[in-house]
Amino acid sequence: MYIRSNNKPDIIIIGAGIIGLSIAYNLLEIDPKLSITLLEKEKLLGIGSTGKCTGSISYQLSSPLQRRLSLLSRDFFRNFDAVFDTPSWYWEKGHLLLADNEGLLKDLQSISVQADADNIPMNLMNQEELQREFPYLHRDRFLGGAFCSWDAYADPYAVLAALYSVVRRKGVGVYFEHEVRKIIIDGDTIKGVETRQGVFQSPLVVNAAGPHAAQLAEMSGLTLKIQPYRRQVYVCTNPKDVPKASPTIMDLSSGFYLHQETSGKTVLLGGTDKYTWPGLQETVDKSVAEDFFMTTMEIIPSTLDIKWLRTYTGLCELTPDFHPIVGEASGLKGMFFANGFSGHGFMHAPAIGRILADLILKGSTDQIDASLLHPDRFLKENP
Ligand SMILES: Cc1cc2nc3c(=O)[nH]c(=O)nc-3n(C[C@H](O)[C@H](O)[C@H](O)COP(=O)(O)OP(=O)(O)OC[C@H]3O[C@@H](n4cnc5c(N)ncnc54)[C@H](O)[C@@H]3O)c2cc1C
Repeated sequence: MYIRSNNKPDIIIIGAGIIGLSIAYNLLEIDPKLSITLLEKEKLLGIGSTGKCTGSISYQLSSPLQRRLSLLSRDFFRNFDAVFDTPSWYWEKGHLLLADNEGLLKDLQSISVQADADNIPMNLMNQEELQREFPYLHRDRFLGGAFCSWDAYADPYAVLAALYSVVRRKGVGVYFEHEVRKIIIDGDTIKGVETRQGVFQSPLVVNAAGPHAAQLAEMSGLTLKIQPYRRQVYVCTNPKDVPKASPTIMDLSSGFYLHQETSGKTVLLGGTDKYTWPGLQETVDKSVAEDFFMTTMEIIPSTLDIKWLRTYTGLCELTPDFHPIVGEASGLKGMFFANGFSGHGFMHAPAIGRILADLILKGSTDQIDASLLHPDRFLKENP
């Protein structure tokens, strides 16, 4: 393997998804002189999970840690157009969470108390209010719900492309079709990575490989508690009685969601496959479509008449506690992780980029208690 003379950057980031690019962006915000190389196995931007992402940004989250990551990311999305001089199509159109049993209703009440303490505007709704404001929902199915006007949408590809263009302009070398096949280690220290095109040397390597994170970690003999799961998305025409600018709707019981696209003409439906088996398989499974649409009609009856236009799948990488794994590997100096976003990687990418940049360059961060994100937390539970 040969080493090209320019292939000795300060930092190598593996994966040019939203996380890898946010880390590069934040590293340069702290130290503009850094030399950074981004290695991406695909030919184009956005082939990984980020390109499949719905673009939801949520604050009505049961985990205080997840809510903190949303709050830390809020200004990035709100100021995006002015900072990057390009639209992200950010839109605070709200999310409506629906509860069809007393247990879920109590969960919503408890989240709303915590959200209130975080100054997040989360409003509980009773059955009557739901029926009045959202007459297209199945009439008696839901006991109540919650609505947050901060919950928003931004276009994942627009954000990805803007970050890409800024980091390229600031000198980051982005190499497409460069799959990392080996991590080079000397004792307990990272030395670089190997691709088919040659070796890239660096004392600092970041694993931002999305659903492939655990595979990549294995190359350096490390186990990451992350498993990828397939998510199937149905693109359909908008149900006739769902008005334009409708909030994103989520049924907590089944996992079902309806996300109306900005045009108001089409919707993305999905979410009922939250209990599938792990794996990197991304083929569409049409055999589950009938059950899916049955569930859909039990939530929004007018979906009986919608047109199913197409289906695609993407991979979500889950950790056992649904919190991300961010930090330096114990026992392997210079190897950093930013993985396991459990379906929240887009909305939390701004915060994660900043946190990891702090950890790499300063050894600590004032954004969050970083020990909550460290990979070793699972060792403590199962020594
Ligand atoms: C259907 C769907 C809907 C979603 N909706 C939302 C949502 O509404 N809101 C939200 O916040 N999140 C959502 N998510 C989750 C979100 O998309 C992810 O958490 C986020 O995109 C993860 O970003 P990433 O950069 O870690 O991964 P990716 O975007 O997958 O990027 C990782 C990159 O690493 C590259 N790579 C992998 N291995 C190697 C290697 N060996 N060498 C070089 N390159 C490599 C890959 O090709 C890929 O480009 C959704 C996910 C799916 C599947």
